[in-house]
Amino acid sequence: MSVNKDISVVFVLGGPGVGKGTQCSKLVKDFKFKHLSAGDLLREEQNKEGSQYSQIIRQHIKDGTIVPQEITIQLLKNAIIRNQEEYQKFLIDGFPRKMDQAVIFEEEVIPAKLTIFFDCSKDIMLERLLERSKTSGREDDNLESIEKRFDTFVKTSVPVIEYLDKSRHIVKKIDCSKTVDEIYADVKEAMKDII
Ligand code: UDP
Ligand code: MG
Repeated sequence: MSVNKDISVVFVLGGPGVGKGTQCSKLVKDFKFKHLSAGDLLREEQNKEGSQYSQIIRQHIKDGTIVPQEITIQLLKNAIIRNQEEYQKFLIDGFPRKMDQAVIFEEEVIPAKLTIFFDCSKDIMLERLLERSKTSGREDDNLESIEKRFDTFVKTSVPVIEYLDKSRHIVKKIDCSKTVDEIYADVKEAMKDII
């Protein structure tokens, strides 16, 4: 099975804890989007009994590094194929965050129509992550993993956002230092051609 080229894909990017998942959930309530979080798909695969990828995924998530692209792309591709009969529009949250993922996904799966980039200071992200850590149960919501995730974001993921902006011209930047509802209003404005 292959991905239907008529679907629309939106990449949702930004540093750890910036609020990507929160904003995607709001979009899903109001519009017919399928929300696919790369991190959630990886955690699901990690916890699947008998998965050959459990260990490698667990280690990368703990270290805040990027799981080899072929694993994540396969999970995303399968999830799109499972949902493409019902959904025409997909939010791909937290992906691509390394150059190889971006290039291979757009070449072999489908090019994105738009990238929403949530821009935010490290202080605000840290505050949100520490708040989330009280309830998330995530193994990477602790100070040590958080520092590593920030590091990967700056060194590995920011260049992807620059590439999507300067070479693909599909990035819309949203200031995330506001309230959830104010940010959501900006998101809807940035996505008006798609929703
Ligand atoms: N991850 C990855 N490849 C991806 C997306 C996520 O390897 O394309 C891993 C990476 O180790 C990352 C972790 O999954 O630190 C958690 O990702 P998630 O998107 O859930 O984190 P958040 O955006 O909430 O910080
Ligand atoms: Mg997330």
